[in-house]
Amino acid sequence: MKKRVYNFYAGPATLPLPVLKKAQEELLDFHGTGMSVLEISHRSKEYDEVHKKASELLKELMGIPSNYKILWLQGGASTQFFMTPLNLQINGKPMEYVHTGAWAKKAIKEAKLYGEVKIVASSEDEKFTYIPKNIQFSDKVAYAHITGNETIGGIEWQEWPKVPNQVPLVCDMSSNFIDKVIDVKKFGVIYAGAQKNLGPAGVTVVIVREDLLNRVPENTPTMLKWKTHAEKDSLYNTSPCFAIYLCELVLEHIKMLGGIPFMEKQNRKKAKMIYDIIDKSNGFYKGVAKKESRSLMNITFNLATPELEAKCVDEAKKKDLIGLKGHRDVGGMRASIYNAMSVEGVSTLCEFLEEFQEKNQ
Ligand SMILES: *Cc1c(COP(=O)(O)O)cnc(C)c1O
Repeated sequence: MKKRVYNFYAGPATLPLPVLKKAQEELLDFHGTGMSVLEISHRSKEYDEVHKKASELLKELMGIPSNYKILWLQGGASTQFFMTPLNLQINGKPMEYVHTGAWAKKAIKEAKLYGEVKIVASSEDEKFTYIPKNIQFSDKVAYAHITGNETIGGIEWQEWPKVPNQVPLVCDMSSNFIDKVIDVKKFGVIYAGAQKNLGPAGVTVVIVREDLLNRVPENTPTMLKWKTHAEKDSLYNTSPCFAIYLCELVLEHIKMLGGIPFMEKQNRKKAKMIYDIIDKSNGFYKGVAKKESRSLMNITFNLATPELEAKCVDEAKKKDLIGLKGHRDVGGMRASIYNAMSVEGVSTLCEFLEEFQEKNQ
């Protein structure tokens, strides 16, 4: 095998090596079928096992209650930005959103196509460097929406907000899906593009409470109703089989490691290692997010000048530390350290950052 680098890209992102190896091993002959998972029918017995197992594992690992449906859809989290208002709107009732940055903004834009959107809280006043606290959600809205982790800004909810009982809380967890233990009951809907923390691009998971499936207007296109996919176990049409298969392998791998509690422990450790370097650097590295809102998954920071940042990215690359350039809209630097990034990878990055500071301060 040629070398593997440490991949800090924000998404698609690094996958566990044992998962890639297993996929490679099974690529040409899946479970004695003489065919690849890429080639077999989505209605075949062999694929059906994979499909069911993916949902079962997710249910088991996240502790998803039996009154929730797991949907495996296409179109990315961006499609859920409009499928959410489409499926949950209630005529005459506004929808409430918390505005925390680039991804929240996109979700808000789509919701506005369907009705009145109220921004119940925003951190725009400080360039989206924190998650608003003590938010008073209204009980007169169709639903409340938050973005679990702002992948570009590097801020993450540390404590889930309280919403009135009858108001479903919807969360875009694309970049912090299964990064820590959560209580699914607190949410009406959770959605996440797989390509950050769960698997490859091409599939989006939606976890939706059953009673919310019936709000959708009748004249909605069939494919855009969550209900359609819930009733057919995400096999109404051809499912993204290979992407789901890879998610299934990732979930098996996580289970073997000790489940989400293990991932959480490791994620907290990894994030702390890098934040400690930032905090000890006497301002050489400046963290973007306010401390109390720091993301476990996307660590954003700046150096004194864009030139120095470019140099840092460049030299890191020479040490096989890849993908540290910040998002093109905000610049700076970003280390995305999803579940599949090893402690070893993070510690290699930390050594590099310390060395780079010594040489350049
Ligand atoms: C990446 C990302 C998205 C967009 O996901 P797509 O699958 O590309 O549509 C949405 N929300 C968050 C928080 C993300 O990180």
